[in-house]
Amino acid sequence: MTATVIDGKTIAAQLRQSIADSVSRLETKPGLAVILVGDDPASHVYVKNKIKATEEVGMRSIEHRMPADATADQIAKMIDQLNSDASVNGILMQLPLPDHLSRDQESLVQRILPEKDVDGLTVANAGKLLLGLPGLVPCTPQGSLRLIKSVKENLAGLEAVVIGRSNLFGKPMAQLLLAENCTVTTAHSKTRNLAEVCKRADILVAAVGRTEMVKTDWVKPGAIVIDVGINRQENGKLKGDVDYNAVSEIAGAITPVPGGVGPMTIACLLANTLKTAQQS
Ligand code: NAP
Repeated sequence: MTATVIDGKTIAAQLRQSIADSVSRLETKPGLAVILVGDDPASHVYVKNKIKATEEVGMRSIEHRMPADATADQIAKMIDQLNSDASVNGILMQLPLPDHLSRDQESLVQRILPEKDVDGLTVANAGKLLLGLPGLVPCTPQGSLRLIKSVKENLAGLEAVVIGRSNLFGKPMAQLLLAENCTVTTAHSKTRNLAEVCKRADILVAAVGRTEMVKTDWVKPGAIVIDVGINRQENGKLKGDVDYNAVSEIAGAITPVPGGVGPMTIACLLANTLKTAQQS
């Protein structure tokens, strides 16, 4: 068997197009504010891509660059200002913050108004996801679910295994799959017999950050395999957490890296911003 390749680039482009269509029907352009602190090159690249995508769908991008030595107080004031600005629908603080702010990062994230929290990282939005209430869902798990549903609409009763339990990805991903009536297992670094656990999965989602950790003998034939991992190799190329070439031979459907989950993250950020604008 050769797996269907789930083309995240195309699916993300379709989603961005439908967002652009909805934006064009709004009287006021939604505004997405990005706070970027410091000089981390990777963060600058992400933010540049986010701004470009925001403008391409017809939204306003509001960029606030702050110096690497910005204090937690200064960032808090910036968040407060954006919280009370009615023309700002979504606030994104690029993470991670510089090292000297690592202890303040969580409280700064929580300072963002839940209704403007387009990353879905506040306690209010995490709680809503847990309780099955409408809220803003973190972008990468939301995008991963859209990819899964692009190959199988009804997931009820399927066995799903998510490797990884971060607040950013693993936990919300497991909640989303549970809400789709999957039987969900969350695996992590202390999981015993990980290969056997994974082999039960009709849907296997890997979000660890270890190059090609998931091998063919971890995968049930015909499974949907979603590779969230981004691992930069010495030659600069990106690889996922799944041994793509080998697993493609037995999976039913699989996401490549790059070109799978990655493009969905920004598209879902725009979807969240549209949602906040439509609710305001
Ligand atoms: P993270 O916070 O570092 O979490 C990694 C998870 O993997 C943890 O729960 C950890 O378990 C688990 N883990 C580590 N070693 C393991 C092992 N040997 N066996 C089983 N589980 C193991 O990372 P993250 O933020 O969730 O991101 C995970 C990966 O996804 C990274 O490669 C990241 O770059 C990528 N990512 C991609 C996107 C995108 O847009 N495509 C977005 C977000 C993240 P413990 O909890 O027990 O430590």
